[in-house]
Amino acid sequence: MDQSGILYSEIRKQYPEVSYAEGMYLYDTEGKKYMDFAAGIGVVNIGHGVKEVIDRMNEQARKVSYVYGGTFTSEARRNLADKIISMAPEGMDKVFLCSGGSEAMESVMKIARQYQIEAGHERKNKIIGRWQSYHGNTFGTLALGGRPSWRWKYEDFFPRNISQVSPCNCYRCPYGLTEECCSCQCADELEKKIKYEGPDTVAAFVMEPITGTTSAAIIPTQRYMERVREICDKYDVLFCVDEVITGFGRTGTNFAVDHFGITPDLIGFAKGLGSGYVPIGGVIVHKKIVDTIAAGSGALTHSFTFSGTPIACAGAEAVLDYIKEHELVERSRRMGALLLEKLKVLEKYSVVGNIRGIGLLLGIEFVKNKETKEPLDFNFSAEIGKYCFPRGLMLSAGVTGAADGVVGDALQLAPPLIISEEEIDFVISMLDEAIRYVMAAHGLQ
Ligand code: PLP
Repeated sequence: MDQSGILYSEIRKQYPEVSYAEGMYLYDTEGKKYMDFAAGIGVVNIGHGVKEVIDRMNEQARKVSYVYGGTFTSEARRNLADKIISMAPEGMDKVFLCSGGSEAMESVMKIARQYQIEAGHERKNKIIGRWQSYHGNTFGTLALGGRPSWRWKYEDFFPRNISQVSPCNCYRCPYGLTEECCSCQCADELEKKIKYEGPDTVAAFVMEPITGTTSAAIIPTQRYMERVREICDKYDVLFCVDEVITGFGRTGTNFAVDHFGITPDLIGFAKGLGSGYVPIGGVIVHKKIVDTIAAGSGALTHSFTFSGTPIACAGAEAVLDYIKEHELVERSRRMGALLLEKLKVLEKYSVVGNIRGIGLLLGIEFVKNKETKEPLDFNFSAEIGKYCFPRGLMLSAGVTGAADGVVGDALQLAPPLIISEEEIDFVISMLDEAIRYVMAAHGLQ
């Protein structure tokens, strides 16, 4: 056990100590080099040690690092908000800032509820999320998410009035349908749910437009996204998206909703905006919500001590400038397509059930049987991760519940957007070797 005073999440594990990092690579205090193919955990989109960001933060720190956002604004905060809005879908025109993804998604729920009250829909106090999703680790966001293994210990403390519908997952259709006979029953389920709950009681529907942590890069159909937008409009339900992992170029567009040409009402974001240089998150708010609250109470009943601090905003603004200058959104699309193509070589293995995703948010779902899609009875991707780490490749392995919320596992592939073709080739050959090794270790053919 580590002798320091830190309560690690894995208490008995010995963690290597990081010394420094550059670009795609981390170096520990023993001098060992690791490729950070996980971008931390879908965070370090621009790579490590970017001088321009560090310099901008230094410059800001010399002027002022912190003011309470309820007392002062700052140039850095205004500039950052303008840049975020310029990347967002048309009609979304204000940004609320906070420090991370869970805070962002809590804020989405609270802003949605406040909007409904101020719009005269006082009874709209229910929120609908989806199974196989992840929105954070606070009571509110765990209740909104759909990962049973992370929920059950805390369910007694969950807020009331948050419930789930099935996701749109064509590899494992919740209705057992194929493309030929699908008429978007999973979207119909949302409409039925709103009707049963009572349309005058539902405030918001929240989904990850492309999934991250819980189910590894599942893309809904265009039809599903359009139907969801229609259903939300029909019943005055706010359509909210969690772009904590997908935002700011990860999927090859500014936001994942851009793939579908859909304008949501609220977008939660975090990870890639700070790219690991600063802890920052927030919510992009549609004009209709801003106007309603401005004409009503005129004040959000919501704030955090670290909302929009000058130091965090300066770092994040420099990250956005770097993304733009180095065309990293386009690069994510291009390198993602290349990685997806090269990953296909792994389809030769009987355990590789599904390779999916877009841009640099990809996933591999492992199965016991390709035809029946029966899940494995052990966590294959966790073992892949354990094989690769000592060999210098860091992955986000060990996604569980990918099949039905309880069983099934997948590997999330979300490297920094700066990855090169040579680095992709290294990863493909290491994954190939790792899959062969884990299959052999479990007697799989
Ligand atoms: N939402 C999504 C889609 C995420 O992937 C995450 C984190 O993995 C969160 C919310 C929670 O973010 P945080 O860990 O910064 O609170």
